[in-house]
Amino acid sequence: MPAPARVRMLDLAAQHAALGDELRAALEGVLASGQLVLGPEVEALERELADFCETAHAVACGSGTDALRLALTALDVGAGDEVLCPGFSFFASAGAIALQGARPVFADVDPASCGVTPASLRQAARGCSRLRAVLVVHLYGRPLELAPLLDVARELGVPLIEDAAQAIGARDASGRRVGGHGAVGCFSFYPTKNLAGAGEGGLCTTDDPALAARIARLRNHGQGPDQRHVEVGFNARMDALQAAVLRVKLPHLEPWTEARRAHAAGYDAAFAAAGARDARAPLDAGGLPLRTPAPLVAPAGHVYHQYVVRVPAARRAALIAHLAERGVESAVYYPLGLHQQPCFADAAPAAGLPATEAAAREVLALPVHEQLAPDQLGRVVDAVLEFLSA
Ligand SMILES: *Cc1c(COP(=O)(O)O)cnc(C)c1O
Repeated sequence: MPAPARVRMLDLAAQHAALGDELRAALEGVLASGQLVLGPEVEALERELADFCETAHAVACGSGTDALRLALTALDVGAGDEVLCPGFSFFASAGAIALQGARPVFADVDPASCGVTPASLRQAARGCSRLRAVLVVHLYGRPLELAPLLDVARELGVPLIEDAAQAIGARDASGRRVGGHGAVGCFSFYPTKNLAGAGEGGLCTTDDPALAARIARLRNHGQGPDQRHVEVGFNARMDALQAAVLRVKLPHLEPWTEARRAHAAGYDAAFAAAGARDARAPLDAGGLPLRTPAPLVAPAGHVYHQYVVRVPAARRAALIAHLAERGVESAVYYPLGLHQQPCFADAAPAAGLPATEAAAREVLALPVHEQLAPDQLGRVVDAVLEFLSA
């Protein structure tokens, strides 16, 4: 009997095969139009994504990193300024701040959400003298509760930016989608994200028409009418080919998200039945040495960009190897806190960020993409339990 197919972390080839004719027609339409950068296809995508994200405006751009830089620039964050951000995220959350010449000020994260809390933001803000913004991240597609975080931003007198690159479509307990709570929401269409382009892409969402207009101008060198540049911007434009691909995929995003949720519920149930607890309980609190994602307050919606469990640090590498031997891929997002990255050594708090560092040692992402078949999910669960129950 041939070995069963690998259980992959992502299967875009299968997604594209299913949409083949539609994708080809959309791409050919763009080539035939001759309009390859910005233009009607990008404008149509912007309208559809503003509707989807439930914001008044959406401005498409070249990547999620561009979206963060455009948001920071439009909010006047520049050289010497400080921006609060989580110690635990994808590199770009802090990289974008540093590229502005500003300083990322790292706040520790909560073990249940892997995101910042009002208390961790207040603590990190204590040493600040030029704080200009708060950047929060909905990590793994899990929406943070925005209301208390917005209260802290108001208290500190600065705008809040949502890095929603991993969380398109997620709703917090207020029922509102991420990306519309703060001043600007930032999204990415990098091919690993839930809504994947065929290359690079990003988006800023906002309800503020003046911010939307400034972001749109900044993405095209700051150019206004009659080729007048009142400020210097970026080349952060979106390709029409990317917009066309994203417009084909967007109507499928909700069913794909539902599939991700069903996989996550399958994992939760199987691991709970084997004695796992959720991430609110520390790993040494007993039960199976595995922690599933903590539940959310209804009607919030996790979009499971990643399904991330916590396992004992000392056994993680061996578990990854055990899974790989059984044809199951897994991944560590992220092996280091941002303050532990060599380039941010100067910005690391003296006492470190204990919860961030524990997360970096213990997190493990299991396959949860929408193409995953039920028998594949069973193989992942069996392989994990075979190792951890032993
Ligand atoms: C992917 C990602 C980004 C950056 O997006 P790119 O499109 O890769 O530039 C920023 N923040 C988070 C949390 C991400 O996951």
